[in-house]
Amino acid sequence: MVKKRIILMGPPGTGKGTQAKLLSDQYRIPHISTGDMFREAIAKKTELGMKAKKLMDAGEYVPDEIVMGMVKGRLQQKDCKDGFLLDGVPRTTVQVEALKDITPIDAVIELETREDVIVKRLSSRRQCKDCNAIYGMDLQPKKKGKCDKCSGALFQREDDKEETIRKRLTVYQEKTKPILNHYQKQKKLVKVDGEQPIPEILQNITFILEQKGLA
Ligand code: AMP
Repeated sequence: MVKKRIILMGPPGTGKGTQAKLLSDQYRIPHISTGDMFREAIAKKTELGMKAKKLMDAGEYVPDEIVMGMVKGRLQQKDCKDGFLLDGVPRTTVQVEALKDITPIDAVIELETREDVIVKRLSSRRQCKDCNAIYGMDLQPKKKGKCDKCSGALFQREDDKEETIRKRLTVYQEKTKPILNHYQKQKKLVKVDGEQPIPEILQNITFILEQKGLA
């Protein structure tokens, strides 16, 4: 089986999580979201969660060593042997370097979305507290405040408030945007229009992976 070790990149709110979940079902490889891992740690009130919470609520990044320690442990698990979808990591040049020591990468997909579209999307985003399903302008739940899949309660992330969204976008431009060059040089980066409807984005990504001989 061809390995699919894929990174989904792009600013917060560009639809990485949504696409990663769809691709994860399609290819039966795990979706690894560092943001979701931190939110789980916060819900369980672990030491890691408590450290991450303050930074996350302020729209700041969690320190690289903490993130990459967690990612390394996750990628060593058995279910990652045929590949994985990284969502939200790497986010800094230090994380790119650390990832190199953990695993090769086969493709990097960048979802491009304009800033004003992101602010609108994120401020209407709701997430299921039980299964992490995401709802928003494109996908409304059938019953207000309840997850279609598992009936879990939907909540608004603290960091999806407008002021924090703007801060997160600034941090993305400063710290994460520069790392795209690294993958561009390696000819691993492919850009996809993140403003299309969800099924079309999925189709584009699937096509790209097929062309790269990964699917
Ligand atoms: P996300 O759900 O990917 O938008 O992540 C939510 C928040 O978790 C981010 O704004 C950061 O505070 C933190 N976080 C998630 N992944 C990383 C990472 N790779 N590096 C640093 N902080 C992260």
